[in-house]
Amino acid sequence: MTYSAKIPYGLRQDRLVHISQLTPAERGDRCGCVCPECRTQLIAKMGKIVRHYFAHAPGIRPCAGGAETGIHLAAKQLIADRKEAPIPLLLAQIEGMDTDGYKHTESKVIFPGCDRQSVDDAKLEFSLGDIRPDLIVTLGQVEILVEVAVTHYIDAEKLQRLESRGLRCIEIDLGDIPRDLIPADLEEHVFNYHRA
Ligand SMILES: [Zn+2]
Repeated sequence: MTYSAKIPYGLRQDRLVHISQLTPAERGDRCGCVCPECRTQLIAKMGKIVRHYFAHAPGIRPCAGGAETGIHLAAKQLIADRKEAPIPLLLAQIEGMDTDGYKHTESKVIFPGCDRQSVDDAKLEFSLGDIRPDLIVTLGQVEILVEVAVTHYIDAEKLQRLESRGLRCIEIDLGDIPRDLIPADLEEHVFNYHRA
């Protein structure tokens, strides 16, 4: 895993702010942003030649995950703000054996699948006992857990916990998103869910 020292999103009053959303007057230490990971002061590098980015202020020992944590939080903020989520095909399936020993499978489409679906609600940081998803979205009567993966993916142990409780969960894979992304890149990656 390589971490980027150039940070695309700063945190200001609990909101993620992309470097491109700053005005020229907010350059340098006037950006008022802190690092999404270590919460120390950032400075906005807004030169003429390279693409703009945030960096840790001089004299602060930089953390490693500022860019990745910012992308993770910005994706969550995007889904919560828009109340839209990339929801794949949801299928309910039951299997049973008849008296002659033949296996029958019944399935019902709960949701046909869509890259960009308006949801009724999108809650951040809502905990379900020992499971703390990034978001929970509600679609009619159906609750779907959403995980945004930049560096941390759902592991076997978590998958088992989800399955044992019959929870529906989607994972949005942002692992290969460019670290110098612009907001339009994030939007495209979040809402362009690749179904397995
Ligand atoms: Zn940091």
